[in-house]
Amino acid sequence: MEDLYFNALQAILKVEKSERPNRLWLVDKEKMVATTESKTVHSALVTYVSMLSLLAFCPPFVILLWYTMVHADGSVLQTWYYLKQNGFQKFVGICPRPTAVAWKIIACYAAFEAALQLLLPGKRVEGPISPAGNRPVYNANGMAAYAVTLITYLSLWRFGIFNPTIVYDHLGEIFSALIFGSFIFCIFLYIKGHLAPSSSDSGSCGNIILDFYWGMELYPRIGKNFDIKVFTNCRFGMMSWAVLAVTYCIKQYESNGRVADSMLVNTILMLAYVTKFFWWEAGYWSTMDIAHDRAGFYICWGCLVWVPSIYTSPGMYLVNHPVNLGTQLAFYILVAGILCIYINYDCDRQRQEFRRTNGKCLVWGKSPSKIVATYTTASGVTKNSLLLTSGWWGLARHFHYVPEISAAFFWTVPALFNDFLPYFYVIFLTILLFDRANRDDDRCRSKYGKYWKLYCEKVPYKIIPEFRTKAVLM
Ligand code: NDP
Repeated sequence: MEDLYFNALQAILKVEKSERPNRLWLVDKEKMVATTESKTVHSALVTYVSMLSLLAFCPPFVILLWYTMVHADGSVLQTWYYLKQNGFQKFVGICPRPTAVAWKIIACYAAFEAALQLLLPGKRVEGPISPAGNRPVYNANGMAAYAVTLITYLSLWRFGIFNPTIVYDHLGEIFSALIFGSFIFCIFLYIKGHLAPSSSDSGSCGNIILDFYWGMELYPRIGKNFDIKVFTNCRFGMMSWAVLAVTYCIKQYESNGRVADSMLVNTILMLAYVTKFFWWEAGYWSTMDIAHDRAGFYICWGCLVWVPSIYTSPGMYLVNHPVNLGTQLAFYILVAGILCIYINYDCDRQRQEFRRTNGKCLVWGKSPSKIVATYTTASGVTKNSLLLTSGWWGLARHFHYVPEISAAFFWTVPALFNDFLPYFYVIFLTILLFDRANRDDDRCRSKYGKYWKLYCEKVPYKIIPEFRTKAVLM
């Protein structure tokens, strides 16, 4: 989702750059160099259309997906016939209104997560130096916040204080409220970016829609310590994934008096994935989502609405489809899923450990093979960077996407193959990551030039080692 938004912006910036140099270009020089020098993946027209389509179609899609999962037995055809027979204006009729209960649930959850983010102790972690030369400092308390959240949620249920089935029963209203609320939140971000930016990593491109859509600030904060992107991406978005996975499991238990093995496998795998995320959260603060992409509509959509609704959808489907897999099959799927999540984690860990130690580490028990690459920033400063060419990063340049997609498949496959919709997330993720691989290759090629070419020669596969996709060497 976020990547498609990013592609749109890249192409648009390329179109507009020559006409309108302004503050944005000044504060984000490295990215601008990459943007203007690289061959973008999509044409400007395609990216404009995709950006507007995402804006127009994602909100109704979230509602339609929820409706189909909860009220149409997970069948796309059933929803289609309902709308066809009753007229498409009936869509408005199935759109739930944001109710007081929904707002209360969201407000309590958001306030709780914000308090944990601010108050729980954690290690001081420095993020990468920003294009404007700032180094954001974080309080790495994600794992503690994750544990406290799940323990609190389960305790509220166990002691009869709050029943998570209320969340499932008001899910449509909650999604509607999130769609509306995140829009308002983005208006706040837009105004804040103009009136009270938190740092010099901020700026307008002179186009109100792009500023709103893409965001203005790289590291917006409230006060000195409350980082808004950590909140939206990690503590609200990713945390909601775990909370909803548990909610779906409890809903099935309360409805049927038991939890089917398919639901158990799905929940355990999704929780393992989110646990891995929070274990590695400080590493996430160095990735593109945080270090390159600004806080605007696109990121709020991805993290405040798309993650809770679409990423959790295989579990949402299973609530009303308690498939019995049998112990043996359930066990095999579980083991395969855990293995994929571990490999995905190990790929990220290997790259970060390699960079952190400046190549002085062991990769698969040996000294890593590497390329010492240099690149020049827009301000003319030459810098060094290391590219790992052994371990997972020697198999293919984006091999880590294979276990990411496979893990999503394994937590979906307990739904078996009666309906297509549970597989929407896997398909979406596959398109997103294959596109992201192209985009990242483009960015790195323009950043590292001949060194990236050398890397492509040493590691010719883009994502899948066996079915080789030769790099376009330029
Ligand atoms: P990263 O940003 O972590 O890694 C790509 C960057 O790493 C490149 O831009 C380059 O940056 C650097 N790099 C590239 N090759 C090498 C190399 N050989 N050695 C050292 N550094 C290299 O990737 P992603 O953000 O795409 O992925 C991070 C994690 O998030 C993954 O686990 C991925 O699966 C997951 N993910 C999940 C998504 C979801 O929706 N579920 C979506 C996207 C990602 P530099 O400029 O520093 O050289």
